[in-house]
Amino acid sequence: MARIYNFSAGPSILPLPALEEAQRELVEYKSTGMSLIEMSHRGKIYDEVHNEAIALIKEILQVPDEYAILFIQGGATLQFGMIPIAFLGSGKIADFIITGTWAKKAYEDAKLIGQAQIIWDGSSERYTRIPSQSELRFSSNAEYVHICSNETIDGIQWQTMPDTGGKPLIVDMSSDIMSRPVDWNTVSMLFAGTQKNLAPAGMALVIIKKQLLEKARKDIPVYLRYDVHAKENSLYNTPPTFTVWMTTLTLRWIQSIGGLPEIEKRRDQKATMLYSAIDASNGYYRCPVEKNSRSKMNVVWRLPDETLEEKFVKEAEKAGLSGLQGHRSVGGLRASLYNAMPVEGVKALIDFMNNFMQRNG
Ligand code: PMP
Repeated sequence: MARIYNFSAGPSILPLPALEEAQRELVEYKSTGMSLIEMSHRGKIYDEVHNEAIALIKEILQVPDEYAILFIQGGATLQFGMIPIAFLGSGKIADFIITGTWAKKAYEDAKLIGQAQIIWDGSSERYTRIPSQSELRFSSNAEYVHICSNETIDGIQWQTMPDTGGKPLIVDMSSDIMSRPVDWNTVSMLFAGTQKNLAPAGMALVIIKKQLLEKARKDIPVYLRYDVHAKENSLYNTPPTFTVWMTTLTLRWIQSIGGLPEIEKRRDQKATMLYSAIDASNGYYRCPVEKNSRSKMNVVWRLPDETLEEKFVKEAEKAGLSGLQGHRSVGGLRASLYNAMPVEGVKALIDFMNNFMQRNG
């Protein structure tokens, strides 16, 4: 087996111990004579895995009892529509802070349903920074405020959550879930597609304040109802059992290395190493993002020209460093440093960068 360093933005690298455990147990799960993914989702064995995932999320993120932890299919994108369907409607207002591609997509869905208001827009600055608190004026009658905590494509990240003055804050944490603690005093709801820091693709983790959940519309198709998912413990219909199982295995790995404190330590080490290498290159490598908005999960940078960028990606691939191409909408380079990326992977990337610069500088 020759696993390479996979810097892809998602689906992305998963912890090797989690993959190996799934491999060992895939054909026959714990002497049951069948695979877990062939079993009824109503049975005791699947139930244990399902509830372990929920319990581990609660423990690792210290989720208070007033919140429901849900698994909903349709990825993060379904949440872009499901949230306004639940909480907006004609005449109702929600505030959006447009920090990049993903906040914008959520806004576009919401404006089909209700009055979505952009209260800050970073597009004229090419999404290179997070706004400061003093730039934000929230609508007095907003049902909620939507932000994306980490813009996967643009490489910018909220370092702390904004103070919405008591309006429910809904956060798309697709690309930084399980990499940082959640401030439950400010966050009323978060959601995250699973295919980055949790599991394979196939669902979203949703954590929502029960008080907010009670306000969700009920006269809508059943799968869109947060209250039904909560009441049925995310087992209203058949859940993506493989994705839930892999979530459990990933979370066990997080616990085994020391939980969120260790994840944060490694995260800071990796991000600091890579940004330092970029900054030390005398402008050969250039990160367009303002320093205090830089993402610790998705690091973006440019080379002197696009031909060199293409060459970099091709040669890196040959050197066992995969997925470094920036998103097709923005170009450039991007390294996703999700939890499962070892420090050695980032070291190998930096060695390659220094070598490439020497040869092509
Ligand atoms: N939000 C963010 C921040 C993302 O990075 C992505 C996917 N890359 C999405 C939403 C959409 O997620 P999904 O593909 O699970 O619908």
